[in-house]
Amino acid sequence: MEEFLDRFPGRSDAERSWLKEVFGFVKHQLGSAPDTSLTEEAALDLSVSLLRRIEEIHNTCTLPLSYRLLSVSELVARQKVACVSNLSWSTNQHKACVKEAESEQAHHKALPRVHLLLIGYLRAGRAGELRLTDASGDVTCECVSPSPQWLGQPVFLPHWNYIPHNAPHMGLVELIGSPVLLSPCQGLAVHPGGAELSRADGVKEAAARLLTRCQGVRVQLWGVVCSVSPVLEVSDSTFFILILKDPQNSQTLPVLVQETGCLWWSQCVFVDQCVYVTVLRVCVVRGWKGNRLLSATSKSKLHILPHALSPDTHTTHTPNTLSPHTHATNTNTQDTETHTLSPHAQTPEQHTDTQTISLKTHTPQQQNTETFTQPLEATEQKVEPNVIIQSGVRMKRSKVISYQGVVTEVLSEEAGLYMIDGEVGLCLAHQPPRRRGLRTGDHLQIHGVHFLYQPCPDLPPSMLCVCLRSTLRVTTFSPLATPEPGSPGPLSLPRFLLKQDVGVSQYLWISHVTKQLRCSLVPRWLKANTVCAVAWRILQLLFKRTEGGRRRDIYTEILEDPHTCPLSQYTADPLVCEYVCVRECLSALESQCGSGASLRSLLLPGGASLSKAQLNQRLAWSHSARPGTRTRPPTPHQEQAGPQKDQSGPGPTRGQRPLVLVGVLELPGQTDAAHTSLHTHTSPHTLQLRDGSGRVACVVTEPHEDRQRAVFNSAWIGCLVCVKRVTMVTEQFLQSDFPSYTHLEQDGYITHKHYRSYLQFCSSDVHILSPSVAMATHLQAERAKRGEEEREEKRVKLDGEEEERLPRSSQHPCVSVVMRVEQKEGLSWRNTGAEREEAGLTLSFRVRAELIGPALKWGKDPKNSLVTGAEMDSHVTKVQVVYQSRAVQWFPVLQPNCLYRIVVSNTQDTSLLSGKVAPWQSKVELHTDPALQVGLDWTFHTLALPNLLHSQCLSPNLMSVSELLDSSSAEMVWFQGVLSERISLLENTNTGHAHSDVGEGLKLRLTMCDQSGRSVHVYLDLSRAPYPPGLLPGNTLLLSAFQRRLSRSGGVYCNSLPVSCVTVSQLGDSSPPQPSTPLVHLMDWMQPGEKRCIVGQVKGHVVCVLYLQLTWSCSLCDSTFIQSRCSSPQCYSTTAVFQSTAKIIMEDGTGEAQVWFSCPLVRLLLGLADSQWEELQRALRVRGRIRVYSRGRGLVCEEDSDCLLQYLSSLCSSSTVCRSLTLTCRARAHTQQAEGEARRFTRGETDFMTRMLLPLQLTCTHIEADS
Ligand SMILES: [Zn+2]
Ligand SMILES: [Zn+2]
Repeated sequence: MEEFLDRFPGRSDAERSWLKEVFGFVKHQLGSAPDTSLTEEAALDLSVSLLRRIEEIHNTCTLPLSYRLLSVSELVARQKVACVSNLSWSTNQHKACVKEAESEQAHHKALPRVHLLLIGYLRAGRAGELRLTDASGDVTCECVSPSPQWLGQPVFLPHWNYIPHNAPHMGLVELIGSPVLLSPCQGLAVHPGGAELSRADGVKEAAARLLTRCQGVRVQLWGVVCSVSPVLEVSDSTFFILILKDPQNSQTLPVLVQETGCLWWSQCVFVDQCVYVTVLRVCVVRGWKGNRLLSATSKSKLHILPHALSPDTHTTHTPNTLSPHTHATNTNTQDTETHTLSPHAQTPEQHTDTQTISLKTHTPQQQNTETFTQPLEATEQKVEPNVIIQSGVRMKRSKVISYQGVVTEVLSEEAGLYMIDGEVGLCLAHQPPRRRGLRTGDHLQIHGVHFLYQPCPDLPPSMLCVCLRSTLRVTTFSPLATPEPGSPGPLSLPRFLLKQDVGVSQYLWISHVTKQLRCSLVPRWLKANTVCAVAWRILQLLFKRTEGGRRRDIYTEILEDPHTCPLSQYTADPLVCEYVCVRECLSALESQCGSGASLRSLLLPGGASLSKAQLNQRLAWSHSARPGTRTRPPTPHQEQAGPQKDQSGPGPTRGQRPLVLVGVLELPGQTDAAHTSLHTHTSPHTLQLRDGSGRVACVVTEPHEDRQRAVFNSAWIGCLVCVKRVTMVTEQFLQSDFPSYTHLEQDGYITHKHYRSYLQFCSSDVHILSPSVAMATHLQAERAKRGEEEREEKRVKLDGEEEERLPRSSQHPCVSVVMRVEQKEGLSWRNTGAEREEAGLTLSFRVRAELIGPALKWGKDPKNSLVTGAEMDSHVTKVQVVYQSRAVQWFPVLQPNCLYRIVVSNTQDTSLLSGKVAPWQSKVELHTDPALQVGLDWTFHTLALPNLLHSQCLSPNLMSVSELLDSSSAEMVWFQGVLSERISLLENTNTGHAHSDVGEGLKLRLTMCDQSGRSVHVYLDLSRAPYPPGLLPGNTLLLSAFQRRLSRSGGVYCNSLPVSCVTVSQLGDSSPPQPSTPLVHLMDWMQPGEKRCIVGQVKGHVVCVLYLQLTWSCSLCDSTFIQSRCSSPQCYSTTAVFQSTAKIIMEDGTGEAQVWFSCPLVRLLLGLADSQWEELQRALRVRGRIRVYSRGRGLVCEEDSDCLLQYLSSLCSSSTVCRSLTLTCRARAHTQQAEGEARRFTRGETDFMTRMLLPLQLTCTHIEADS
């Protein structure tokens, strides 16, 4: 010790004690490390050497007393956060580095600095990794370019990062500078001299040797590295493959490295290095078509040669320059010489001068390195991918490139997905998991990586995917801390990839979905470890067949030329389904609602001619219903690429991806306080789909024979489902005051705006990912019924997760009874007197039902299990079941003619279900059936008894629209029809029941029609009812308990009653219904009775124009508007609309009809061009109005002198107008052609009374084309 201190004279006390500590530490940690023995003298030398190096690096005369040496075990055990230690940094240098690093990557902090120093021995681990070992233990080391010379040497680490792992006693030391060798190199491999190198085989000669089978031949080989495979562990053997090429003719030769002692070579060799490997033997790889390759032996040595000094050129150099290039150790003067002699050999990141450690490398590679493709170039190269159509699937071929860049984002460590340079994706899944996960800020060099263009629309369009032939190397370790320390993780996704053998595009898709599901369903509905399996199940459901199917063959993938691997080809379907969580779905729904421009589209056609009242009425309610898709805005990248380079054409970039939703189906009332802040769009009429991000109302129907029906099995409640093919509906309610069409852009005229968004789907498009207990029972019963015991449907096992979500049939006692619903009332706020809510009204409905059999006691909840004999007997009690306040959540489940089991838990009192008088009714004398008041703990389970159900599903008194119209007796009606038109009756919105909601307190006029085309108006008063979703044109509605009325003119219409109920029984197409228009002869149209059709196509000739009126009218008061002023004296309106009407006589050879035309069609009838029409409007401004009408068969004008009139009348009688036309027409309402009109004629002295048929009156809705 004294001898040691003597070497450092003139030190202070503090320094002396620090020196003592260092000496003791070195002596203990290096002296007692495994497999070493250190003499006192050697320890002294090492300590002195260490201190000289410290002084040199610290670069001041004083000792760095703030630093302390740390043992490996202490580091691993104590250091819980990632950190950096750098002896050479001054405080200012450190600050500058932090600033630079953090400025490059927003949202990331630089690693915090610690003042710790490490020493130890560098040794090779079992799988070829470097480990730093001292007496206390060892830790994995990562180094950007280790040298073979460091192995086994005592080293001092002045600059390093430490990244702890989640697992205890695990961590990773990243060497950000080379280690310092403490003892002069000794016992190293003899450097190959010139003579030795000249005996070495080049790639070409060695390849020739492979062909001649010689036992025991050992080969010395030199060549340029062109690929380094990752270290693979396959059935107990660990190996990697190095491929060398001849720099002259680029012939390649693989070297298999399987020898445990040589595995660490994989760390030292890089693409484009020149290496010399000794004592290789020839071996046969069975798995690879019996081909032979060279394999390293236990005696093999690896030498890394400076590039300029490859054996081809070495004759011109002196022998000492042939020493292997080593990257380190300023102690070695010989190396310094080498550097100066061969500057090309030095790649920038290999600089070891501690004063100039740079955390960034910009410098280009050596001249002969293949150029690294930059992102833009990359795009350029791959936008002409080879597209192959393989069995109907569009396949692309990937391109193999090299790339260098910086990791800018870790997309999913689990799935091995990263983002480089902010725009290129990187997928590592096709290589075995790396010891060190990549971090944001890492600089990478990747050789032989596959470039895929748009393999998955959820990820960046440019994707780099590594395979076993690719070489990925981190050239600079990131100076940034990762938010969560890099943990090995379950890595279940890549393992999945191996097992299921999916193609790369589907892998990327499933990785993305897994990440999303994790956000929206874990941990409430799914366990973290089942997410992958659920994503896989969704993939199976959505993709008819999974791509891939090719087993990976490791040897072929690494060795074969030309290279093929699972990444060589990939599918590229830009319109693949897109998973969205409920919140995203809702925002997509909201984006359907529009601005001024979309208001305009609501008013087509003929919006411009609407008066103020008509205009605002039309805007009051509108809806958008379209298939669940979302358009992805083109990324800046795609815009850059330009349309002409876009191989996929306009479809994919602009196309619509169908949406897929995953969530749990719930009753509308199942809300909990914790989630009230979530996005909510619910309605008591519907079930809701829910995930962690929100809930959305769903109008659901069930397939029934070849149609749909409203029935919804209660077993769906609580199921985790995947819904594909949804219709996204947004209803828009607008209170507005637009003076005219031209003001639509001005939002100020909108006084109130309100949306309702929900989904519509049929349960056949719902797939169960995890069934509820009731659904499992239901499916089992179904299967048993069909006699299928085999083939248990392949369903994801969710590790008891379902029990957590839905407690299994509890052991609590309960009572039950079977109920058949006969009739259901509509939901409304009623004054029940039972509960006090706002204004004394309670949301409620009633069901008229039969209780079948007696109420039974149960030891545990029977849920929807098969009905037992004891439950069903002939005893039937008629009851009214009353649902109030929260019990109304059962509304969507209960449907007429279905059987339910009512279960009341935690009781054994059967009298609850016996249909006795409810307490609140006891004071009133009863004239109706006894009532059951539904309690909050009652549950209703749908029972499947198909024999009973199917026969009675449509009750006998359910009518069609035609039957309703023709029925003579019925007062109260149940009927079904397709909703063809819906109008809000505006005048009632401001009166009556006060609701803050525009959607509520509405009165609607629904036009219901059936297949015959006949229709009936239904007036629906919603002022006392919550708003029912699904009343959309195209949907089939079941209207029960409506009042049938006759109008004064004898027409039939219906009114809603307080008990009326509207149910959506079938979903229409997402587009509004296009009534099929049959071609009709006018004669047929005049037939009286049922056969008369409403809409039809007429092919005929315009005989004459009876009447034509063009007007500028005031948008407020309808008066004529003359020269920009309203003609009405009280009106100060400044807006006018141009209106036109015409009436013609048309005949088609079978009869004659009068056809009315209004605004946009008049122009087409007159055959005028847009410009002519505008000119006409301008000309009319002066007088405001013009009329042309016929007398007899000649046209007469109001004033013959007027040239405008003359023009119009001549136009109307010309062949431009009087021509053959095909029109779509609708019969005008309430014209009674059949009866005709009594007329009196006088002939001389005699009066004749005759009944004249009125001409057929039609309104033209569309002019097809001139025929
Ligand atoms: Zn490949
Ligand atoms: Zn006016």
